[in-house]
Amino acid sequence: MNFNFKTISEFNDYFKDEKTCYEYLESQVWQGVPVCPHCATAKKPYKVKARGKFQDIPSYRCSERACGLPFTVRTDSIFEGSKVELRKWLQAAYEITISKKGISSYELATRIGVSQKTGWFINHRLRAMLTETNPEILSGTIEVDETFVGGLEKNKHVSKKVKRSPISRTLDEKIVTPKTVVLGLLQRDGKVRSFVVPNTQGVTLNPVMRANVETNSRIISDGWVPYKELQNDYSHVSVKGVIGSYITYGDQHTNNIEGYWSILKRGIIGTFHYVSPQHLQRYCNEFDHRYNNRLQPIDARFAESVKQFAGVRLKYRELTPNQPEPHRKLRYNKAK
Ligand SMILES: [Zn+2]
Repeated sequence: MNFNFKTISEFNDYFKDEKTCYEYLESQVWQGVPVCPHCATAKKPYKVKARGKFQDIPSYRCSERACGLPFTVRTDSIFEGSKVELRKWLQAAYEITISKKGISSYELATRIGVSQKTGWFINHRLRAMLTETNPEILSGTIEVDETFVGGLEKNKHVSKKVKRSPISRTLDEKIVTPKTVVLGLLQRDGKVRSFVVPNTQGVTLNPVMRANVETNSRIISDGWVPYKELQNDYSHVSVKGVIGSYITYGDQHTNNIEGYWSILKRGIIGTFHYVSPQHLQRYCNEFDHRYNNRLQPIDARFAESVKQFAGVRLKYRELTPNQPEPHRKLRYNKAK
């Protein structure tokens, strides 16, 4: 089903009821014939009457004798186990995809008419859906950089200065950094991928590099020591910072990844205000996804964002294993 729209009102006109939303998702995941998500049999399922509030939504029962379970397109997907209408879920997916810097749970809750807690949960599930399942390996010229999110930013206004702040040690002598480290890999004219990592040591960063960047690619980084260990595998260009400014020689710069960090950080400051370190990777996934699809028209961006709804689950308990623990939330302080 190709559904083209340019505005939110066209979007809402189209997804006017639950039935249309179900049919849209079916067209995205099944090629005409519904497939049982429990056993994936090739047998055509029985059509059955829908249970619950919406009697006209397409519902099925598996025709495989050993299985025989009921299902809809929502079963075993990111939308399963939620009482929120599919229409609201799709509106939320639209909002998260189209917004420039993401949408806070408060704002989402107001826009689609759910509680703030539900808005928070929907946001996190959608972020899980935006995670790349089969990321292709990056190649060509890759800008590599790491940044810090959260923690204290006093006395610092140049981001580079922050990353060279001394590594603090806790009482048990475990090396910890004062902020959450995010490693970013950006392929020129390609995709960006960001990873929350425990520290900036080579033993941590280099395996991520090797898993995501093709050998013999050209790496441009800011000269941070661990990357030097990669010189046997990659051709490495180090761009040295000089008191807050960078001398660039032709295309030897890390401007693109720096630009990406500024989008990520503005989003985290401006939209979310603070992000708990345990959830930061999902925020990174959301920002990666938006950045990687930013040049597409909005209908294509929406289709791309809901493409992976099937087979992804994220339960409320997984999101909040140790609730309540507000002390774990780090405030992101604006650089002054
Ligand atoms: Zn089955």
